[in-house]
Amino acid sequence: MTDTKISLSFPSKLYDAYIFDMDGTIYLGDHLLPGVKRTIEELRRRNIPVRYLSNNPTKDPSQYVEKLSKLGLPTDISDIANTVVTMTRWLKDHRPDAVVFPIAEQPLIDAFNDAGIKMSDNPEEIDIVVASYDRTFDYRKLQIAFDAIWFHKRAILVATNPDRYCPFPGGRGEPDCASIIAAIEACTGTKVQMIAGKPNPVMLEEAIAGLDVDPTNCMMVGDRLHTDIQMAVRTGMFSAMPLTGDSTIEEVAELDEKDRPTYVIDRLDRLIPADIWEENGWTEDDA
Ligand SMILES: [Mg+2]
Repeated sequence: MTDTKISLSFPSKLYDAYIFDMDGTIYLGDHLLPGVKRTIEELRRRNIPVRYLSNNPTKDPSQYVEKLSKLGLPTDISDIANTVVTMTRWLKDHRPDAVVFPIAEQPLIDAFNDAGIKMSDNPEEIDIVVASYDRTFDYRKLQIAFDAIWFHKRAILVATNPDRYCPFPGGRGEPDCASIIAAIEACTGTKVQMIAGKPNPVMLEEAIAGLDVDPTNCMMVGDRLHTDIQMAVRTGMFSAMPLTGDSTIEEVAELDEKDRPTYVIDRLDRLIPADIWEENGWTEDDA
């Protein structure tokens, strides 16, 4: 029997570092979510490291710096890790000589180019098909992947992220990488062998690289149970799930206790303990 009575719970202390998902956690579309600005400002004021993570491979880290800065959160490029960074790093670390066929938008292709990764759309020489969130996906790309994997029996399939859709304001969304993976798996009968994004702990390792912190005293904050929270569970990190994005409190209740977030919060500034709210004179209405 799963416990169906999950209630909101808020941290009573601060942690060594905070890693934030962005879509559905920090912002939705072009708007910051309630309490976000003062939460980040409070952590920065206390010199607590803040990092941002995204599974979205359609933007390079500088585009996130620009977006966050425009929304009033000044951000350094080293504060950002996304699947453009982790996918490129994985290929360099594990298959540096492979010929890659990226089913991808320009930022990922540019990153592969910059890293010296060999690319081809000739199925006879492709070693790795990289599926990603690609809004230019078409039959030609599917045929190349099919030929490289099924006909020539030489390529493996890897992917940037496992997300089914990317959330948009008003409850809308866009089909994400899972649908591209599914199309290739369906026609080739193969299975994706590695997914670089959350919940793969390499994302968290990338995020806290260079910080002198104990991962088991850091806080991962994100709105998706199966990516953000699962990654924190696998890494042994504390986690908080704001109810401002994808996953719901009912879905938390359906999980085994070990897979649940440490905290379920209604708004991001609950990460700041109550005594600091009092010190700062914060109320729920003023953010
Ligand atoms: Mg999210």
